[in-house]
Amino acid sequence: MSDKEQSLIPFSPPRMDQKIIDAVNDTLRSGWITTGPKTKKLEKEIAKYVAVPKVYCVSSGSAGLELMLRWYGVGEGDEVILPAYTYAATANVIVHTGAKPVFVDINDDFNIDIEEIRSHITSKTKVIMPVDIGGFPADYEQINALVQSPEMRAVFEANNTHQKNLGRILILSDAAHSLGAEYKTKKAGSLTDITVFSFHAVKNLTTAEGGAVCLNLPSSFDLDEIYTELNIKSLHGQTKDALAKTQIGNWRYDIVEAGYKFNMTDISASMGLVELERYENDMLVKRKYIFDRYKNGLEKYPWAQIPSYETETKKSSFHVFMLRIRMISEVDRDTIIKNIFSKNVSVNVHFFPLPMTTYYRNAGYSIADTPMAFSEYAREISLPVFYDLTDTQIDRVINAVVEAVESVLKSK
Ligand SMILES: *Cc1c(COP(=O)(O)O)cnc(C)c1O
Repeated sequence: MSDKEQSLIPFSPPRMDQKIIDAVNDTLRSGWITTGPKTKKLEKEIAKYVAVPKVYCVSSGSAGLELMLRWYGVGEGDEVILPAYTYAATANVIVHTGAKPVFVDINDDFNIDIEEIRSHITSKTKVIMPVDIGGFPADYEQINALVQSPEMRAVFEANNTHQKNLGRILILSDAAHSLGAEYKTKKAGSLTDITVFSFHAVKNLTTAEGGAVCLNLPSSFDLDEIYTELNIKSLHGQTKDALAKTQIGNWRYDIVEAGYKFNMTDISASMGLVELERYENDMLVKRKYIFDRYKNGLEKYPWAQIPSYETETKKSSFHVFMLRIRMISEVDRDTIIKNIFSKNVSVNVHFFPLPMTTYYRNAGYSIADTPMAFSEYAREISLPVFYDLTDTQIDRVINAVVEAVESVLKSK
């Protein structure tokens, strides 16, 4: 059988089995489908898993990031530093607040470059948003130390009570890819001030749509108070949530701000509870196995640049296998991708750098300012990684990549 006659290998379908279906069914029949006991339980389980004092679940990773920018009072006249190499969500939420996204360049590991952060900090900088691309943690020790340094504290201008309390730039980690990843044995979620996970359908742990905010702020903050604040902000500024209002005679509520609608449903949370229980010892084990097989199958080729996913200090969550091909152009990469798809294998590119997109180009950004973001993007091909991927399929992916790359290199 030729490759073409074999069925399409998808890129990252979710793991949907009877256990998930049963859990969702149970919630549907329970009489409570929106935010309630399952969501509260998921928050506690995530807090335990990543070892942080408080977690607040939301309707998406994007909602969580925007919620926390709003919580810190970020708005017009402010600047937020982020890598040029990320998904649009990281930047769009900054634009929503009226603040200015400041794109900076990346390292060889695809993550934000500490020196680039340092050189872009101004008195307007309120937040830095590192992104753990592909599941590999950013350099949190250096990033935390930078904003805590007396030199950077002196540059910071506080405009409200939360900013005065922290007295420095906030680190808001976009950990959409990195649930379960580790940096010096500490898990993503506990590596900096605030971390946001995404549970979108393509992510390692999915609730269809969903997200979680991990609070790990200094002890001068009252996390119970912040939790209440986030709950009110996520429910239209209403002082009492739907569950509290079900208590007899307890109807009276007030609206204290024009808030958002960012809450997670118990339907989503029930999926998350099943997924989290088997995440560390099953999902992550399988994903690492797939990464190792790709590495072992491809590293012998001189053109293959294998992504970092385990180093002395860092361990990935094995979210995206970001292969790079050495010494090729963007056009070559696109030809290779077409060639791989012709063998019925789905691949992807993570990511199209934001300064190259129409909206951000029109807003005045240029990819020339972040050359590493371009050179790494131009050579990148993401390979399929999902729970049900079989050994035979992994071998088909490797063969498709090798044939496609070698045919393009030969024709040059
Ligand atoms: C998926 C993703 C998000 C947003 O997550 P949603 O839950 O889809 O809103 C944010 N940042 C990055 C890097 C992502 O890949």
